Amino acid sequence: MTKTADFLIIGGGIAGLSTGARLAKHGKVVLLEAEEAIGYHSSGRSVTFSHFGIGGVTVRALTAYSRAFFQSPPDSFDPLAAVRPALFIANQAMVPALDELERITRSHADAVERLDAQSAADYCPALRWAPDAVVAAFVHREGLKLDQHALLQGYARAIRAAGGEIVNGTRVASIGPRWRVQTEAGDSYEAPILVDAAGAWADHVAKLAGVQPLRLSPLRRTIIVFDPPSDMSVRDWPFVKTAVDYMYLMPDSGRLLASPVDENPDEPCDAQPDELDMAIAAHRVTEFTTLDVRRITHKWAGLRTFAADRVPVAGFAPDAEGFFWLAGQGGYGLQTAPAMAEIAEALVLGTAWPQAIAAAGVTMEQIRPERLLQRSST
Ligand SMILES: Cc1cc2nc3c(=O)[nH]c(=O)nc-3n(C[C@H](O)[C@H](O)[C@H](O)COP(=O)(O)OP(=O)(O)OC[C@H]3O[C@@H](n4cnc5c(N)ncnc54)[C@H](O)[C@@H]3O)c2cc1C
Repeated sequence: MTKTADFLIIGGGIAGLSTGARLAKHGKVVLLEAEEAIGYHSSGRSVTFSHFGIGGVTVRALTAYSRAFFQSPPDSFDPLAAVRPALFIANQAMVPALDELERITRSHADAVERLDAQSAADYCPALRWAPDAVVAAFVHREGLKLDQHALLQGYARAIRAAGGEIVNGTRVASIGPRWRVQTEAGDSYEAPILVDAAGAWADHVAKLAGVQPLRLSPLRRTIIVFDPPSDMSVRDWPFVKTAVDYMYLMPDSGRLLASPVDENPDEPCDAQPDELDMAIAAHRVTEFTTLDVRRITHKWAGLRTFAADRVPVAGFAPDAEGFFWLAGQGGYGLQTAPAMAEIAEALVLGTAWPQAIAAAGVTMEQIRPERLLQRSST
């Protein structure tokens, strides 16, 4: 028997769950997730730090807008965010990029301060302040460490509380007209609106539906976790990132995690870390700090999936009525989720572009899929 819904969502990552929670207030949501648990792919592999050292103008506006939700979530959510400094560092070659990032960060936030060697060391005593290492730094004291588990579970609870359903372990295998979906197990679902929130698989899902793909690029990112020196407590260390995409470092349950900020093209898959990327991460940590990465205790990789202009996509496909794109969340799907879910809700329902989103500087044209399809057809 075919189960019917008002909104059928494919993908139980942050995109599908956050938008599902908003749509569930307006009709029956059924969310289909291929894996046995929500957040198994990118959304469970993020380091979930919200900061302004990533993305272009639109992404930063979405990031700024989303902070209020994280800091004062609805009562049904567990606490979602802890304020933690974001420390940006530069070697000599990176100083112009650091200056520009400081200017941008100041345009979104107040608690921004240029640091000298001593005050940078107060934040992170392991920084190697030297002519061939760190020569400049600034801090945004109010970065946000997000709790991805609380975020995903909070949205999932909101979907269920509004009468929606989340069906795990259900991979969509084929998609027919008027959005009749068949799963690998042979179940079928139907809805007038199909939301493609399949992350790295979003183009694949579009092809199943006969919709023109957006040419999204899944790029792999690697994380290593290692022990800090036994005489250093890293618990209160900031998120530390080079002004350009080269290395970041952050405390993680008493240990340190680091990334070489890699972006290796990959296929949609269960991404695994590559030995070389792990070695590069360890090396870059030693370039900028006095830390010695002796033993990697833990490692993982995940896919960050981008549209060509690196701006997330939300909107109905122009070539298929009722097929809604929610894709290309890149490296900022968690920190922009509240804004993107609000946008997706308005676009799905056909209501006015949210005024608060417009006031934040984000327009419909920046977000809708048309911009990418125009590009790919020229
Ligand atoms: C190492 C790393 C660090 C990151 N750090 C940050 C950060 O600090 N801040 C930040 O905001 N973001 C960060 N990100 C990015 C963030 O994780 C992503 O932007 C976000 O998780 C994307 O969410 P999504 O819902 O689009 O994709 P996903 O979480 O991948 O969800 C898509 C889901 O669709 C399901 N699916 C696919 N095909 C089908 C099908 N046919 N049928 C049913 N289900 C299907 C998949 O199983 C998957 O669960 C990071 C990512 C990585 C890898």
